[in-house]
Amino acid sequence: MGEFDLIRRYLEPVARSQTHTGLLLAPGDDCAIQRLLPDQDLVFSIDTLVESVHFPRGYRADYVAWRALATAASDLAAMGADPVCFTLALTIPDDDEAWLQAFAAGLKDAARTFALALAGGDTTRGPLTVSVQVHGTVPAGMALRRSGACPGDLIVVSGTLGDAAAALACLHTDAPCADEQALLARYHHPEPRLALGQSLRGVASAAIDISDGLGADLQHLLNASGVGAVVDLSRLPLSGPLQRCRPGEARQLAWSGGDDYELCATIPEARWQRLDASVRTQLTVIGQVQAGTGLSFRGGVPEPAAGAGYDHFRRQVS
Ligand code: ADP
Ligand code: MG
Repeated sequence: MGEFDLIRRYLEPVARSQTHTGLLLAPGDDCAIQRLLPDQDLVFSIDTLVESVHFPRGYRADYVAWRALATAASDLAAMGADPVCFTLALTIPDDDEAWLQAFAAGLKDAARTFALALAGGDTTRGPLTVSVQVHGTVPAGMALRRSGACPGDLIVVSGTLGDAAAALACLHTDAPCADEQALLARYHHPEPRLALGQSLRGVASAAIDISDGLGADLQHLLNASGVGAVVDLSRLPLSGPLQRCRPGEARQLAWSGGDDYELCATIPEARWQRLDASVRTQLTVIGQVQAGTGLSFRGGVPEPAAGAGYDHFRRQVS
């Protein structure tokens, strides 16, 4: 199968299955065309997944596709963007048809779920690597940023934390119990909080998605905003499966574990009080922004090195 057969057979059907009115020209030409509306900002970001670095060798192809699109879409969620389209740079070792079929199925599923239309891409042979560039839009000036948190703002997180990190321990379990299956689902099928991010436009003073771990990602937000914070570790939202499977380490995993793709945001207290209950119930207050630059804790302290996050070139972020 040639490169163009591969694109026609496996990727063009994905492009046809999920379209967007803003995407005027999808795969087939030298470039895709996106029509930009006045008074909108284009927000875009690229993410790469490499086999053996971001997912295990032999990892299911449909999971690879879902995770590639989900992690990229999570960056759009963090900016409060409306998803539009994505490009896909796919490097594969061979043209294994069963693998491609599963990959295309996972990609189609994710594209529909996140409302992202496939705009084009590049296909090459080499070590398995998947890069996804996503495009989204926000009303001009309304994108959420990491900077903007002010002393007094409440720190909130969405969903529950630590599940995906706990799943790493049972990735190779032969017959996972129901709780382990729930944890594994969080790792295999992350669900970027796109709708929540959109509803935080004009509400949150700053936001970030939690990919490396709350400790590391909150620190990025605080650094960008030039502020400090107090965090109550006893308030971190923990799922039932996490508390039952890892009772001794649940809080630690929630603080330092990555791959959850929840949102962390700061919200001025007055806006939090007025916030629609349907949005508020998706969030848990875990602390408050403070003047200065330090991070202090209530309800326990993180273990040494926890919250360090993952850095490809240093391994430990200071
Ligand atoms: P060019 O040589 O002009 O850069 P290519 O030969 O790389 O174009 O690709 C031909 C067409 O197929 C382009 O429209 C491109 O967007 C599309 N395409 C190639 N690879 C992919 C992919 N992985 N996913 C989606 N579309 C792809
Ligand atoms: Mg060309």
